[in-house]
Amino acid sequence: MAELDDIPQHVSTGTLPGWDAVENLVREAHAYARETGDGDIATYIPRLAQVDPELFGVSVAEVDGAVHAAGDAEVLFSIQSISKAFVYALVCEELGHEVVRERIGVDNTGLPFNSVIAIELADGHPGNPMVNAGAIATTALVPAASADERWARIQAGLSAFAGRRLELDGEVYTSEADTNQRNRAIGTLLQAYGRIEADPLGAVDAYTRQCSLLVTATDLAVMGATLADGGVNPVTGERVVAADVARDTLAVLAAAGLYERSGEWLFEIGLPGKSGVAGGIMTVSPGKAGIGVFAPRLDGAGNSVRGRLATRYLARALGLDIFASEAREHGPYPYSREKPS
Ligand code: GLU
Repeated sequence: MAELDDIPQHVSTGTLPGWDAVENLVREAHAYARETGDGDIATYIPRLAQVDPELFGVSVAEVDGAVHAAGDAEVLFSIQSISKAFVYALVCEELGHEVVRERIGVDNTGLPFNSVIAIELADGHPGNPMVNAGAIATTALVPAASADERWARIQAGLSAFAGRRLELDGEVYTSEADTNQRNRAIGTLLQAYGRIEADPLGAVDAYTRQCSLLVTATDLAVMGATLADGGVNPVTGERVVAADVARDTLAVLAAAGLYERSGEWLFEIGLPGKSGVAGGIMTVSPGKAGIGVFAPRLDGAGNSVRGRLATRYLARALGLDIFASEAREHGPYPYSREKPS
C-alpha cells in the first residue's frame, strides 16, 4: 500500500470576506462579547489573581498578513497552556509526528488538564500534548544538550511563530514555580512510567517558563495565522514548521485544545483552538486566518468566557466553521452528474 506521503494532497479552504468587512466584524465581535461579565479569573497561580478582569482584546490575522484588532489587543499576558500547541509543533518538526504520536498520543482524555488520574488510567501514557502530562513530556523531547539550550530553543521557536521576540514574565514564572507541586508530581510520575527519560523536574521548569512567555491577542492571531498558512508566518514570511506539522497540530487542537470542553467548542465554533488560564484563546481557520482573544474571566474548565463568545461570533460571521455548508445551485432534482464531454 502507498505511503500517506505518496498520496497527492489537495487543499481547499475558500477565502475571507474583504478587508473592510473583516475590520468591522472584529469590532462587532468585541462589542458583542463585552456585554457579559460572567466567569472568574484564575487564582491558583497567585500572580494571575492580580489581573484587571475587564481587559478584553480581539485580533484577527489573515494569511496575507493583514491584522485587524479591537479593544486591548496589544496588552501583554502570559500565554500559559497555549504554548503547548507550539512546543508540540516544534517537537514534531524536529522528531517527526509519528514519534510524538506514539510517545504522547493524540486523544482527548476527557479529564481536567492537570489530572493525575488520567495518567494512571492510561498506564502512564500522557494522553495528548495539550494536557499537562503530555505537554511536560513533549517539552522533555525538545532536543537540547542543556536546560539553557532547551529554553533558548523554545523561546526562539515560539517567537518565530509570533514574528517578534517573546519575553518571559519573571513574576508569573516565579509565582507558578513556587506553587506547581502538582506539575512536579506529574513530571516525576511520568519518569516512573518511563515516559520521561531524564530530569523530569528540568522538563517541568522549562514547561513553566514556556507558560510564562508574554503575548498579546495580536501575537496569538499571528501565531494562529502561521498554523493557518501551512507553517509560514504571514507577517515575516519565515517558514517556522512544515505544512504537515501545522496540519497535525490543528488536528490535535480540534480534539483536545479546550480542556474537557473540547467537544463543546468544536460543536459550537467548528474550528481548532487552544486556550490558556490567563484568558487567551488562539483559534485557527486553515488557509484563512488566526484569531487571538484575551479576556481573563474563565468558565469552569478554564476557557475565557468573552473570548469564546467573540470567537464564536467571528467563526459564524466570517464563514469559518469547517462543518458549515450550503446546498449548491444546480439543475432540477433528481440530479445526476454527467461526465463532461
Ligand atoms: N502553567 C499552567 C499550569 O500548568 C497552564 C495552565 C493552563 O493554561 O491550562 O497549570
